[in-house]
Amino acid sequence: MGNITGFIDHQRSSVRYRNPIERVKDWNEIAQLPSEDILQKQASRCMDCAVPFCQNGSVLAGMTTGCPIYNLIPEWNDLVYKGRWKEAYERLSRTNPFPEFTGRACPAPCEGGCVASLANDSVTIKNIERAIIDKAFGEGWVQPQIPFQRTGKKVAIIGSGPAGLSCATTLNQQGHTVTVYERADRIGGLLTYGIPKMKIEQQVVDRRIKLMQEEGIQFIPNTEVGKQISMEQLRLENDAVVLCIGSTRPRDMKIPGREFEGIHFAMDYLHGNTKSLLDSHFADENFISAEGKDVIVIGGGDTATDCVSTAIRQNCNSLVQFDIYPVRPTSRAGHNPWPQYPIIHKVDTGQEEAASVFGHDPREFATTSLEFVSDENGNVAGVKSAEIKTVKENGQKIREVIPGTEKKWPAQLVLLAIGFEGPETKMFSDTNITVDNRSNIAVNKGTYHTHEEGVFTAGDARTGASLIVWAIQEGKEAAMECHNFIMRKMA
Ligand SMILES: Cc1cc2nc3c(=O)[nH]c(=O)nc-3n(C[C@H](O)[C@H](O)[C@H](O)COP(=O)(O)OP(=O)(O)OC[C@H]3O[C@@H](n4cnc5c(N)ncnc54)[C@H](O)[C@@H]3O)c2cc1C
Ligand code: SF4
Repeated sequence: MGNITGFIDHQRSSVRYRNPIERVKDWNEIAQLPSEDILQKQASRCMDCAVPFCQNGSVLAGMTTGCPIYNLIPEWNDLVYKGRWKEAYERLSRTNPFPEFTGRACPAPCEGGCVASLANDSVTIKNIERAIIDKAFGEGWVQPQIPFQRTGKKVAIIGSGPAGLSCATTLNQQGHTVTVYERADRIGGLLTYGIPKMKIEQQVVDRRIKLMQEEGIQFIPNTEVGKQISMEQLRLENDAVVLCIGSTRPRDMKIPGREFEGIHFAMDYLHGNTKSLLDSHFADENFISAEGKDVIVIGGGDTATDCVSTAIRQNCNSLVQFDIYPVRPTSRAGHNPWPQYPIIHKVDTGQEEAASVFGHDPREFATTSLEFVSDENGNVAGVKSAEIKTVKENGQKIREVIPGTEKKWPAQLVLLAIGFEGPETKMFSDTNITVDNRSNIAVNKGTYHTHEEGVFTAGDARTGASLIVWAIQEGKEAAMECHNFIMRKMA
């Protein structure tokens, strides 16, 4: 710890975003890192406390606190403060194979657990992580790590999101020959076709894939396991298989009028938009357009925010977002103490953009949808909503509509972003693989091994929809379990 009074000398100053009214005119990354000088001062705010809660990821009260990949945060903060950036990169890459993804899109549960936030604002850990890896790429420090020896053993990974990529990189480093199958035309899972390019530019994903190819990993896009190639064939041709297929079944809304035209799942909207952007910069017109439409986004999470950002860039006429939760408090409530993830009111980048264009935050809190209405052609024309309150009934919390709060909103485009219901199962319906009571792939207790010998699983497919950082950690741990399985068989 170089500067023992850093957290007193300097206030927190986190990443700046481009001016919202300007950035909505393009699809380029919105974050702008401060200068190295400012970042070094920010790094010096780390107290190197005796028990760094920031680097020890765990789940408290159902929420993540601390870094799930156990990044050695106080160590690289100190190295950055001292200007020893290359060593900071080496320290960071010990735990995180893809800091360029987390440094851009992680919600930073590490910062919620930062000890400095007990009395002051937390250290800007995520910004510093991104600055380290961006500098490392800029300086040419990130080079392919080609394994010295090959084991002659083969592993197939299904799915190329952060879990599949992390699993592939770890198994490859152990000397196994790894092939990643992906049904989409581009590699990256939700890093490519979920999180919009304003948060993670495609060249950031492609740059990492190129490195992984140079390290010896083979990627096969446009190949859906269960269609173009069967699970059985993969089992026969490989020593192990890892399912990193994500949680891709969208949760639907069973309310009157759901069948009308113009009501779409968020992922169909986001995927189509990104594909058209990357393929032709929208020249193919092969995407769902919000241009000139009144848009309603239903949902309050990351996916909903990404729909908001996208609809604004498509020049929608108006935008409303229904969030089922009430407005959160501006500081931690008594039942949400440090080091739990802070449940506080936040204005995310999408809402900031909506406010800059329409003059107000698009969210309607504590609001539920009652019914969709249509025009005479069966196209959606509006949504009826109502405010809700939470009441206790027989000790259980339930949501109740508040009478007299019903409203009707115009909408020619409605986007459903209310979560996911687990992985698709058709591909493994002929195997011993099963799902658990939350519809995720079931594993032998406390492991990544499915009920089919030699088949493992990791990421959202095992945990349900989660975060990039958890998917990376899952991929690493599943890879090591898979490696041990293969080595035991070799012995
Ligand atoms: C819109 C959106 C925004 C998000 N924003 C953030 C964020 O800002 N920060 C954050 O930390 N997390 C965010 N998340 C969550 C995060 O993206 C996921 O938790 C993470 O990507 C899960 O990784 P994964 O590898 O398990 O699955 P995925 O990334 O979903 O990858 C699974 C891959 O498997 C492929 N696949 C499925 N079935 C088959 C098959 N049969 N054959 C071949 N391939 C198959 C799919 O095509 C997909 O590419 C967001 C999620 C969404 C939906
Ligand atoms: S990966 Fe996420 S939780 Fe871990 S240090 Fe980076 S921002 Fe924090």
